[in-house]
Amino acid sequence: MSDRARCIRAWGDRRARVLMIAVLLAAACASLFIWQRPWIAGLCLLGAAIGTYGYFEFRCPRCRERFMSFSRDAVRFDRTSCQSCGLPKNASPLGADCSR
Ligand SMILES: [Zn+2]
Repeated sequence: MSDRARCIRAWGDRRARVLMIAVLLAAACASLFIWQRPWIAGLCLLGAAIGTYGYFEFRCPRCRERFMSFSRDAVRFDRTSCQSCGLPKNASPLGADCSR
């Protein structure tokens, strides 16, 4: 697998994790406030918590370290560059943009 294909796959995986968290949170809200099913909301919130953990476990395509920090001082959900090597979000390890 080429570096470009590997980084496109990695960033796509990161976007899929964000989408999964958003869908699960929306489903939890709908389950609570529209369908009145709190046990479904609980399952959705559990899934969102697991998804958030996976989002924070995302590895940088260049340095293979965690892209985002778990430390209490540096936690940011919208981090735009790798905490270890500074690789910008959606960028190739070689420098080209991998957002497409
Ligand atoms: Zn990195």
